[in-house]
Amino acid sequence: MQSFNPDEIQVSSGHYIGGRHVAGQGPAMDVRRPSDNAVYAGLPVADADLVDQAVQNAWSAFKTSTWATQAPRERARVLRRWADLIESDPGLAALEAVGSTRPIVNAAGWDVPFTAEGIRFFAEFADKIGGDVAATRSDSLGMTIAEPYGVIGAIAPWNFPLVMASWKIGPALAAGNAVVLKPSELTPFSAVRLAELAVQAGMPPGIFNVIQGDGRITGDALVRHPRISKVTFTGSTRTGSAIMAACAQTGTKPVTLELGGKSPQLVFADAPDLDKVARMVAGAIAGNAGQVCVAGSRLIVQRAVAERLVDGIASAFSALRAGHTWEAGATLSPIISPADAARIDGMVQRSVQAGATLAVGGRLAPVAGEGAFYLPTILTGVDANMEAVRDEIFGPVLTVQVFDDEDEALALGDHPSYGLAAGVHTADVGRALRCARGLEAGTVWINRYGRSDDYVLPTGGFKRSGMGKDLGRQAYEANLRFKTVLVDFAR
Ligand code: NAD
Repeated sequence: MQSFNPDEIQVSSGHYIGGRHVAGQGPAMDVRRPSDNAVYAGLPVADADLVDQAVQNAWSAFKTSTWATQAPRERARVLRRWADLIESDPGLAALEAVGSTRPIVNAAGWDVPFTAEGIRFFAEFADKIGGDVAATRSDSLGMTIAEPYGVIGAIAPWNFPLVMASWKIGPALAAGNAVVLKPSELTPFSAVRLAELAVQAGMPPGIFNVIQGDGRITGDALVRHPRISKVTFTGSTRTGSAIMAACAQTGTKPVTLELGGKSPQLVFADAPDLDKVARMVAGAIAGNAGQVCVAGSRLIVQRAVAERLVDGIASAFSALRAGHTWEAGATLSPIISPADAARIDGMVQRSVQAGATLAVGGRLAPVAGEGAFYLPTILTGVDANMEAVRDEIFGPVLTVQVFDDEDEALALGDHPSYGLAAGVHTADVGRALRCARGLEAGTVWINRYGRSDDYVLPTGGFKRSGMGKDLGRQAYEANLRFKTVLVDFAR
């Protein structure tokens, strides 16, 4: 994918309800490009009335269209066509890159195709999961029937706007639900293009709607709406807790929560190919400038290889090139906003004041314009009580803790509240499996770090990292509710 001119990107800045663009009313929020902090569009904030309009539209489409009632293979056919349109859309990657932290090389090479293939993956379940016949008495027939919920409220974060949205809407739509999606107010526009393409692919208008706005007004009204039967959310642990409370107060709605993390990478001295491990550890914290829920932000390394590994990671960091997301050669993402970069820097500097050593980074990278690019940073000499080790930074900051034996590695790996992901690098199969069992995390990667394109593997956190799963069969099933039907046919 080539570089492009960001000023030529047009966005459709309203809501998308009932298969139509709906202009915003009232004052618009500024939407900025993270790469240069320039305002490039205004965003309407949907109030409770407009949220009601979107949800009622979705409900009426759910009840009156054939989306939920048609042969499931027909629904799958529409979803596959939608995926094809997403993949071949000439402008989607640039639309994603211009307003997010995703360099164009990543947006075109991963975000767009991964979104499309994820929708295909969920389409395949449409006629595969339908309930069971239960072992009841022989003069009765007991069944569980899988049915969609109705209207699902989906709320997405800004760090991978298309992919995160697709993990919410893909399984919900494949299971026959209607959806109202609220993308992040920081990265709102690619979702509207998804909705346009859905209608183009043959999805009935109103089945997939996008409302724009902030969390406090629009997101809250969506979650609380009485016609929303289930909420699926990805974002911070704090917001997830607020959403869970709102779901409890407004109808005990089921909720899927994909939240924050502070994931460890355990490296033992026998790890195969330490240079490769260094590149993996570096990629796990520098990718998307650390603005990744599963960022491997805590390196826990055996003493004998600690120095060599840290040198290797620093060298991998130095190969990254900070640049605007519209430049083909850019490989280090901007921070979502200058304020967020200041927040990240504050956490680094306070940890240094508390006794940590700044091994590399710890400052902004010089890039033209008003965007903020934070250099990948390594803090050594840390302890578990330091802010940088304890709290999610959501930036390219790696802390390093050294251990002597397996028990110590596991103790350091455990986090008091988060449990999203973990990595273990070792040549010893027994140790790898002991660590996989011992670490309290929703995903443990052995001799790798990061997701593969195995959509079949679910992802989701333990403890305060969330509940429920995205991807996998589990995510599809979570968008269905199972009804029991018992028929007596005794003479
Ligand atoms: P955030 O919680 O600030 O916002 C996420 C979404 O929630 C946005 O659309 C926002 O408008 C909305 N929102 C905010 N307050 C709300 C409320 N009271 N009611 C309803 N909606 C509300 O998170 P963020 O800054 O966009 O994303 C970063 C966070 O997301 C990090 O903590 C990261 O770890 C997490 N995340 C987790 C996963 C995962 O799969 N576990 C994936 C990506 C990001």
